Formats: sequence, structure tokens, C-alpha cells
Amino acid sequence: MLPKGGQTETIGALALQDLFAYDPLIRDRRGPAFTEKGIAMIVASRGEIAEGLFGFGKPELPAFLLSGERPTLFDDVMTFMGPLYVEGLRDLLGDEQRLSFNFLTHSHFDHCGAGPFLKRKIGRLQTGAHPLAADTFRKPGAIALIRSLGEDVSFDGLEVDLLLEDGMEIDLGGFAIQVIATPGHTRDSISFYIPELRALIAGEAVGVYDGNRTIHPEYLSSYGDYLHSLEKLAALEPEILMMAHYFTLTGPDARSYIPKSIARTRTFRARIEAYLHEENGDREAVVRRIFREDYRETGAILQEERPYLINLRAKVRAVAENR
Ligand SMILES: [Zn+2]
Repeated sequence: MLPKGGQTETIGALALQDLFAYDPLIRDRRGPAFTEKGIAMIVASRGEIAEGLFGFGKPELPAFLLSGERPTLFDDVMTFMGPLYVEGLRDLLGDEQRLSFNFLTHSHFDHCGAGPFLKRKIGRLQTGAHPLAADTFRKPGAIALIRSLGEDVSFDGLEVDLLLEDGMEIDLGGFAIQVIATPGHTRDSISFYIPELRALIAGEAVGVYDGNRTIHPEYLSSYGDYLHSLEKLAALEPEILMMAHYFTLTGPDARSYIPKSIARTRTFRARIEAYLHEENGDREAVVRRIFREDYRETGAILQEERPYLINLRAKVRAVAENR
């Protein structure tokens, strides 16, 4: 998803201010993800999350760094933010050239856009993604779309060096990570689990929070796959859950989030089914109704209108077509 303000510094800062004003737990934008006493449990994805694990850049579009012997970046976000993330890597690693891997949760423009820039900057960097994502990055249509949704025109395809498949374990020196296929948001979605920290980087496979802490399911490619992926992730019972946008959850909040997300996913499907019935199968009428109720009336969705609607149509379609 593209969060509100994802494209410009000013709007991004405003959106974040609203969010931080909303909740005192995440008011300190500069602070570490954990307070010293470890009491903050839902925090902005910024600073040291656990030993060797960092969120950096902007919380609305965070990148995560696992700084073992082979430092690894998870999700490199949007094209025009590449230089900002190189700066962040320099701060955390001393020298950005130390970065070994760039692993991508999926092929959406706000999760992979700066990939080519990082490859040009860091000679030894190896990019890892699901084989379907590797295919997507070679398609002229996908390249054009990613290019058009960022401000920088330098996205020219992305060569994936490591094909990341379900069940793979990768030793990053000091840390091992597991690759878990979590399709449903997109067909190429994968999640990364760090058993030693019980930490999970799940992209949008677990849905997103709005400003009221309501979970919005994000099954764009398949409802059935999405639910199955959530059930796989729930079994991990993570202690740290790094979300695709804004938040990192820890402790009880991390443990209870995925079961809640499963319940919300089922409820949302039932609601779409009921609306489709009431609107005599008119999908666009259902989209308009949910847009009015969830987006307009709550004002809590942290995403621009256009991508929100594109995604909502995909969710209604997935239910209508029983995918
Ligand atoms: Zn996405």
C-alpha cells in the first residue's frame, strides 16, 4: 500500500504528526523502538527494535536492518527514497558497502523501488525475492508502473540474485532467518522470521493498522491464500512483529495481533458478501459503500484515496470471484 504522504516529506511529516498526536506511546519520533524499560509495545518502526535489529528511514515506509556478519536489509521502499536509506545504512553500519543482502517482502513499488539504486551504489549487494517477484521485475509493464509511482525515473528493472522460496533458511552470520511464502496480498509475498529474536517481518501479509488501530485485511490476489498465510504466521507466535507501515509490535501486542487479523479478515469477507447480496452483485456499489463507511466516515485510513480504492476493488473482486 502507499501510505498517505509516502511521496513527499511535508505531507509525510503531517501524517505522522497526526499519528503521534493520537497515541502517546509513539509520540517520540526519534526514540528507539523500545523504551529503556521496554514498556512501549506498539511503537513507530524506528531505532533499535532488538539487539542487532533496527527500523530506519521513515516509519510510514520503514526499512529493517539485521546487522549480523552479513548485514541484511528488508524492503528498500520507494525509488526516490534510495539516498535517504543509504544514509541510514551508513549511520547504522559505518559504511553502507558492508551491506550483503537486500531481501524483499513483495514486488509492490513501495517495497522494492529503491532496489536498483542500492545495487548501483553497493557493488556486492545481492537482492533476494520470491521467484514470481523476480519475473515481475523483468516485465516492462511492471517496470513502467513502479517507475510511474515514484518520483525518480531510475527504476529500470531489478535483477534478483537469490530466489527465495518457502522453507529456505539463510545464515546471515550471527542470525539465521527463515523464508515463509505468504501469498494472498500478492502472489509473490514472502515473510522473514528471525527465530533467535522471535521477530517477524511480514510486509502486508498481516494487513495494516489504521489510525484507530483497526486492522484492514490486504488480500489483493487471493482471500483463501491470504487466510492460509495468516494461519501459518500465527503458529510462529512472534514476540516482535514489524509491520509494512508505521508500526512495530512487541510482547502481548505482537502475540495477539495475528489472531485478531485473522478474525478481521473473516469479518471483512462476510461484510463484503452481505453487501454484494444487498447491492445485487454490483461490485462498484459495494466499493463505494465501504469507501464511505471506512475511509470517509472514520478518516482513520493512513493511505491515499487512489491506491486505497484500487486495493479495495481487488478485495471485493477476490470475494465476488471466490478467489
Ligand atoms: Zn503491497
